[in-house]
Amino acid sequence: MSALVVIDAAVAARCGATTAAVPDWPCRAGCADCCRSLAQLPSLTAEEWQRLEAAVPAAHGQAIAERIREELAKSQGPYTCPWLDRDDDRCLVYEVRPVACRTYGFYVERDKGLYCNRIENRVATGEFDGILWGNQVRVDEQLDAIGPRIPLADRMR
Ligand code: SF4
Ligand code: SF4
Repeated sequence: MSALVVIDAAVAARCGATTAAVPDWPCRAGCADCCRSLAQLPSLTAEEWQRLEAAVPAAHGQAIAERIREELAKSQGPYTCPWLDRDDDRCLVYEVRPVACRTYGFYVERDKGLYCNRIENRVATGEFDGILWGNQVRVDEQLDAIGPRIPLADRMR
């Protein structure tokens, strides 16, 4: 089992425990505010890129390539993820989405929230006080151990 699959499994377990504890957890299919407001374009390990690129549906390949060009042409964010199906707000590569997409909303850095507005609003009410948040720093260290992150712009060269 690759290190990336091990990370995925651990993240899935933590996120699963969270959604089991809070059945109306806000992250769900069709919610894509985070995919439409990326502060940065993806910068992924080679293994993440390989599996993502291999999974792109052929029917969407041309549209995704065009969206990548559009996003790379922007001088600054927020960016919209090129792998987001704009018609129904669903991830076209959901099963092989990057680790950062899997942890977002569920993992935080100590003293530094990484919440989207939907989650932040409920954190503010104290509703999520009992939630055991994942450790984003630890996940980033595990990814660093796999290999360097390759920015989208470099991957396209
Ligand atoms: S992080 Fe926020 S915007 Fe993204 S899926 Fe979860 S609730 Fe929706
Ligand atoms: S890869 Fe999928 S989950 Fe990640 S930002 Fe893009 S559309 Fe959203």
